Amino acid sequence: MTPLQLQGIGMTSQRTRDRLVGRLTEQGIENPNVLEVMGNTPRHIFVDEALSHRAYEDTALPIGFGQTISQPYIVAKMTELLIKTGPLESVLEIGTGCGYQTLVLSQLVNRVYSIERIEALQKNAKKRLSLLRVNNVKFKYADGNWGWSEEGGFDAILSAAAPEVIPPELITQLNIGGRLIIPVGVGDHQQLTLVTREEGGYKTKILEAVKFVPMLSGTKNLS
Ligand code: SAH
Repeated sequence: MTPLQLQGIGMTSQRTRDRLVGRLTEQGIENPNVLEVMGNTPRHIFVDEALSHRAYEDTALPIGFGQTISQPYIVAKMTELLIKTGPLESVLEIGTGCGYQTLVLSQLVNRVYSIERIEALQKNAKKRLSLLRVNNVKFKYADGNWGWSEEGGFDAILSAAAPEVIPPELITQLNIGGRLIIPVGVGDHQQLTLVTREEGGYKTKILEAVKFVPMLSGTKNLS
């Protein structure tokens, strides 16, 4: 997949984006494809106009409905971990939010399936990605705790919301050798966790302390 052609969509200056890539490199992101995509992906179109001047800071920002766009470092880190094992055919994302992580993934894997429980957020994300002519993403308005069994198994699953314990369906919907990367825990005590599905079981590795919004149950229609 080639990086997006960004001419004409009001990308902020090359210097600002180069600085973001520089910071990500300092923080340990190494994969050149991930760095290239992070440097080419217009984060400012995913946040409110009033906040767009802060879009290339390495920080989470509000996207409405009590949710946040993930910090660029964590988006890059999770993506790097997912694609480490080689090219991925299909990836499930839990927590579309504004669609920024979805857009990053769509440039690095063949097919992305993205679930969001807040309908209004998903509608906006869909709109943005279709304006950018992204056509390898399928969206579902649902509770991601249950995964997306009709489209599984997946080569990888990435969750941008933290459950207290890992939903078992997410593990069973991984292909053998597939990887789930998910923050797990309550409040300020979350650990980014990597689960690898194996023949007849799975193995778990704790990576680093993180802070994500909680994974909630059910769906929310606010319109
Ligand atoms: N990567 C997104 C992160 C958004 S925050 C971005 O950069 O915008 C996490 C998202 O997970 C929120 O939009 C929240 O509504 C969603 N979420 C929480 N619990 C969920 C669940 N059970 N199923 C699907 N989405 C969920």
